[in-house]
Amino acid sequence: MSDSERVSLVCRECGAEYPATRLYICKKCFAPLDVKYDIGRTSLSKNTFFNRKKTLWRYYELLPVLDKSKIVDMGAGYSPLIESERLAKSLGLRKLFIKNDTVNPTCSFKDRPSAVAVSKALEFGLTKIGCASTGNLAAALAAHAAKAGLTCYAFIPKDLEPNKILQMSIYDPEVVIVEGTYDETNRFAMQVAENYGLAIANVDLRPYYVEGSKTLAFEVSEQLEWGVPDHVIVPAASGALYCATFRGFKELERVGLVKDVDVRISLAQPSGCSPIVTAFKNGKESITPINAPKTVAKSLAVGSPGDGVYALRKLRECKGFAEEAADKEIIEAIRLLAKTEGIFAEPAGGVTVAVLKKLIDEGKIGPDETVVCFVTGGGLKTPELMVDGIKEARHVRPTLQSLKLIMGGI
Ligand SMILES: *Cc1c(COP(=O)(O)O)cnc(C)c1O
Ligand SMILES: [Zn+2]
Repeated sequence: MSDSERVSLVCRECGAEYPATRLYICKKCFAPLDVKYDIGRTSLSKNTFFNRKKTLWRYYELLPVLDKSKIVDMGAGYSPLIESERLAKSLGLRKLFIKNDTVNPTCSFKDRPSAVAVSKALEFGLTKIGCASTGNLAAALAAHAAKAGLTCYAFIPKDLEPNKILQMSIYDPEVVIVEGTYDETNRFAMQVAENYGLAIANVDLRPYYVEGSKTLAFEVSEQLEWGVPDHVIVPAASGALYCATFRGFKELERVGLVKDVDVRISLAQPSGCSPIVTAFKNGKESITPINAPKTVAKSLAVGSPGDGVYALRKLRECKGFAEEAADKEIIEAIRLLAKTEGIFAEPAGGVTVAVLKKLIDEGKIGPDETVVCFVTGGGLKTPELMVDGIKEARHVRPTLQSLKLIMGGI
C-alpha cells in the first residue's frame, strides 16, 4: 500500500474528509477534525509486535506519522502496567492495575502526544513548535523539540507549580508566562499561532497530537495479553485523553486485535475544576465553563474543556461514570498510592485514585471487576504539596543506645 494513503482527516460532526495536511477544523461546519486510518489496508496481528521497540512507536501503523525517518523517539510510552495488590486490598478490589505513566521521559503521559506532534512537525518541514500548557505538556514538548532540533515556545498560565516551570525551562524553550488562566493562555496561543504562523501542538496540530495518547489503551490491552479490563479510570482536563482512550480501544477492535471490546471508561476531575463531571451528573449535553478553577491539581485546571462534549457522549456510550475529588481527598490518595504501591504521583494521579475509591464506595465498581487506573504524572513535579503530614525524620547520635527508642523492641 502507498503509505501516504494510510492517513486522512475526517470531521467529527459532518464526516467530511480531507487529506492529512495542517488543517484542523472542518471547512464546512467548523467542528474538530480527527485522523482516520485506512484500516482495511493495515494488516496487524499479535505477532506484529513481538520484536518491536518498547515505546509508543511500536504501534506505528496506527499513528499518523508517515515518514519513519522523522520519528522522534526518546522512549515515550510502553510504561508498566503494575498489578497493585496492596492498593486493591485496601480499596476492596480483587484485580487492580496502575498504568504508571510517571515513568515517561519527562514524567508525564504528555510525552506521548508530544512525540507525535514533534515528529509530525518535522514531517511538515516546520522549524518551530509551540503549546499552551498547564505544565506537563510544556516540559514534554520542549524535551522532544530539543531532541528534534526545533525551537519551542511554551505558553503557560501564571500560577503553575515552581518545579514544573523549572523542569520545562531546563530543555531551553522560550517560556511565556501569561497573566491569566489556562483558558486565557490557550486563546492567546491561538492568536499567536494565527499571527506568526506558529504551529501549536494542541491547537492546529491537535488532530495528530492527540493520537499519541490513545497508545495508552493499546498498551493496556497488549499488557493484558490483548485483553480488555472491565473498567478504566481516566483523568480529564480538556477531555482529550479520555476521548483518545475510548478511541484506542475501539481501534483495536476495528483492526481485529481484540474482539468485542466491552469496557467502561470513567472520568475523573478535581472538585475545583470539574465542568465535565458536573455536566454529566446533570444529564447535560453541553458544558458550563468554570471561569476561575481552584484546585491543587493544576494540570487538570482547564475550565473550558475543548473535548468536553465529546467526552460526555463517549461516557454515555460506554456507560462510564464521572466523579470528582476534593483537594484533601487528592492528597490522601497520593499518600495511599505511595505507601501501598511505591508510586509517587502528582495530583492528577491522586484524582484518579481518589475517584476510584469513591466509585467503589458508592458501589459503582464491583469487587470482581478488573480495573485499570491511569496515573499520568510524577510526584516530583509537585513535591511541595506533600510537605504537610509526612513522617518526620529522626535524629540520632550514631550509637545503638540512642537508636533503641526508634527501633523499639528489636
Ligand atoms: C494534561 C494532563 C491530563 C489530561 O489532559 P486532557 O486535556 O484531558 O487530555 C491528565 N493528567 C496529566 C498529568 C496531565 O498533564
Ligand atoms: Zn464538518
